[in-house]
Amino acid sequence: MKIAIYPGSFDPVTNGHLNIIERAANIFDRLIVCVMVNAGKAPMFTTDERVALLRQVTGHLSNVEIDSSNQLLAEYARQRGSCVIVKGLRAATDFEKEFQMALINHKINPGLDTMFLTAEHQYMYLSSSAVKELGSYQVDLTEFLPEAIIPAFQARLNSTKK
Ligand code: ADP
Repeated sequence: MKIAIYPGSFDPVTNGHLNIIERAANIFDRLIVCVMVNAGKAPMFTTDERVALLRQVTGHLSNVEIDSSNQLLAEYARQRGSCVIVKGLRAATDFEKEFQMALINHKINPGLDTMFLTAEHQYMYLSSSAVKELGSYQVDLTEFLPEAIIPAFQARLNSTKK
């Protein structure tokens, strides 16, 4: 059974992330989407909230599991019996950092490879941080965020504005 891991911050999950999740779930037997806890970042949503939002939008995908971890990714993959990390590549700007991470992870865990799925053209510009900026203005977010999570996103924006 081929188990892949799709790691990220998912703060919050966007339509770009969801597109990668759906495509990867079609390729692998099982996909574990893992919210990686990053002590350096001050997130908009807690780890548990990000996990809950991801679960809300992936309920239709029976081979997708949502998890979180504060471990080293290469170590987490070993524990979960996965030999593939899935990453989305938006533009050349993602490439340098992702290439370096892939090499490091492979060095730490030689049984682990990284596969890149190219972003769909309509999501190439889309990142969680861009959506957070847009959210402060009166912009229709349905193109950027799964509809089911827009109320939670707007509620969080409103509560942080106060
Ligand atoms: P970001 O805050 O930039 O959205 P994440 O850490 O949540 O970053 O991203 C997790 C993974 O999803 C990374 O591999 C990233 O390249 C990928 N990704 C993020 N947004 C998109 C998108 N719009 N299309 C394709 N892949 C994406």
